[in-house]
Amino acid sequence: MNKVATEDKILHELKPNNNRLPDYHMHTPLCRHAEGKVMDYRNTAGALGIPEICFVDHAPNPDGYDPRHRMNLNEFCDYQEMVGALVDHRSPHVLFGIEADYYKGCETFLGKWLGTQDFDLVLGSVHFIEDWGFDNPDVKQVWNSVDVTDTWATYFKLVSKLAETRLFDVVSHLDIPKKFGHRPPEKDLKEMVQPVLDSVAEAGMGMELNTSGLRKPVGEIYPSALIVTLARERDIPICFGSDAHRPEDVGKDFPAALKMARDAGYTHYFRARKREKYVVPLPGTLAYPAQALDGVHG
Ligand code: ZN
Ligand code: ZN
Ligand code: FE
Ligand code: FE
Repeated sequence: MNKVATEDKILHELKPNNNRLPDYHMHTPLCRHAEGKVMDYRNTAGALGIPEICFVDHAPNPDGYDPRHRMNLNEFCDYQEMVGALVDHRSPHVLFGIEADYYKGCETFLGKWLGTQDFDLVLGSVHFIEDWGFDNPDVKQVWNSVDVTDTWATYFKLVSKLAETRLFDVVSHLDIPKKFGHRPPEKDLKEMVQPVLDSVAEAGMGMELNTSGLRKPVGEIYPSALIVTLARERDIPICFGSDAHRPEDVGKDFPAALKMARDAGYTHYFRARKREKYVVPLPGTLAYPAQALDGVHG
């Protein structure tokens, strides 16, 4: 649930030594499709003046779900050790999280396991419609043989179910089906996404502004400005993520994400600690050099 950061200790801890946005979405090589040492992810953040980062590698799913893009359960201790080695008093501060997928039957494993781990943040994602990894470039041609609007509707139903499980803290890259440029007419999108946002709000979940979409064919932040505005109307708290799968992508395009949040009417974002959200003011645009905001379109 969301808390305003009033508790002294937390407030002190969150007091930024600078006022840039934390990056709450980065991976490690344990997921088999990311590269670089965790130390290098942190070093990039440090060089950018980012005060806090959270690793959220793809969760293990010993029930056989998508084993090619995630660590095994018996590698989870390596993940804990790698990230744990960075948890010290130096800046940037390092949080420990996980990106867990919603899929049919995920509750059997995740429902028990997530609660027994010491996470600061659990992102919830949908990457599959049945057996189709719709955001996987290797199978993107499937998009040519499906009805785009129906596919989005199916996707959004899965995200609503994700919210209904109450297993996840944040919905990641909410409109990721747009990755390769396939999208429904805006009117249909708006109609479809509103009940999803209602479920997200009802579940007390946050929403991520994920800049990785800018590095994909669609060339846009996930989710779109329209969805961020609709989320703002529902007071859904937000956080920011680069979804870096290599150290050099940490903190990428955060000035654009900040602008997008402000344009949608957001004044606050949240910091995570042990799966609680602490709402703090967004940095002013002066937090970033003027040239970083030049040419930024929400
Ligand atoms: Zn990944
Ligand atoms: Zn994802
Ligand atoms: Fe990710
Ligand atoms: Fe992801």
